[in-house]
Amino acid sequence: MSVLIYTESENGKLKKIAFEVASYAKQVANALGTTVTAVAVNTDDVTQLSTYGVDKVLKVTNEKLNTFNAKAYADILKQAASKEDSKVVVLSSSANDKFMAPILAVELGAGYVPNVVALPENTSPFQVKRTAFTNKAFAISEINTEIKLIGLSKNAFGIKESEGTAAVEDFTPTLDDADFSAKVTSQDKVTGKVTIADAEIVVSGGRGLKGPENWGMIEDLANVLGAATACSKPVSDMGWRPHGEHVGQTGKPVASNLYIAIGISGAIQHLAGINASKVKVVINNDPEAPFFKAADYGVVGDAFEVVPKLVEKLKEFKANNA
Ligand code: FAD
Repeated sequence: MSVLIYTESENGKLKKIAFEVASYAKQVANALGTTVTAVAVNTDDVTQLSTYGVDKVLKVTNEKLNTFNAKAYADILKQAASKEDSKVVVLSSSANDKFMAPILAVELGAGYVPNVVALPENTSPFQVKRTAFTNKAFAISEINTEIKLIGLSKNAFGIKESEGTAAVEDFTPTLDDADFSAKVTSQDKVTGKVTIADAEIVVSGGRGLKGPENWGMIEDLANVLGAATACSKPVSDMGWRPHGEHVGQTGKPVASNLYIAIGISGAIQHLAGINASKVKVVINNDPEAPFFKAADYGVVGDAFEVVPKLVEKLKEFKANNA
């Protein structure tokens, strides 16, 4: 009876969230007196999962699975759960995993709780804490089905190292044409840029930047930090930035370790999208801007003075610490 996890990867490389899901599952497994089995699809280096508590890896290799397919991936996990007699299955709360989880929940007859932020409060009854109302509240959910399906929020638990080794086993689940009845036929990805969803650091600009011609300094700051760029809704509505960068209730959610908001007032609809970010830094020339109430660090100042100086100092720091 192993705790089963799905480890997300991209171009053969495990994503950071895979290590967080593994770290979380290890502690759930410890509480239940069992082990952790990971499913890895078309992933090169799976042995590193042992560092985060995985005892066994079921390695699936199939070129039809090079692009994510919710139905096929759910079927793989269902077969893995049956093979491992898993009563707890842990995924992330990424867009792909949230697409797959309801299909898997139906196939397993499992109760599913997404956006989980902590280890189970109890394992009998099985109760987990999750966020609600776009991260403004918490709820305790009880799962009463035999199999429990958990979607862990990004950055909620962190990555924790464990000792041990992982046995790697090739796993060939049965997949048929029905699994691929809807499939991705082409992808048009932005290259060379960190996406908002995966970024550890996000630099975001608002209407306080006055116009698209001033975005150079936002990009400079993002480049020096290895960050993704984002913006408030009016900025994308006015066409200063692409809609894919708009953060908030009606835009993308951000769960980065660091969110730097420049010239953004901090309207409730914007904050709804960034509540899950760990450290929030605000640069705004109005000391009364509501964003300061939600900030961990605030700079009251003109962005056109503060940001170039920040870029300069960061470049200096990097040069001296290379
Ligand atoms: P403003 O409110 O105009 O704020 C600009 C800020 O820049 C001010 O605080 C100002 O002090 C500061 N500033 C000005 N000059 C400088 C300077 N030189 N240096 C430093 N700071 C400066 N908004 C979102 O962002 N995301 C959403 O998903 C979203 N969804 C919405 C959904 C609905 C149904 C509605 C009604 C609204 C939604 N909004 C959303 C809009 C939201 O209410 C705000 O209007 C919007 O977030 C404000 O954007 P802003 O902070 O960039 O602009």
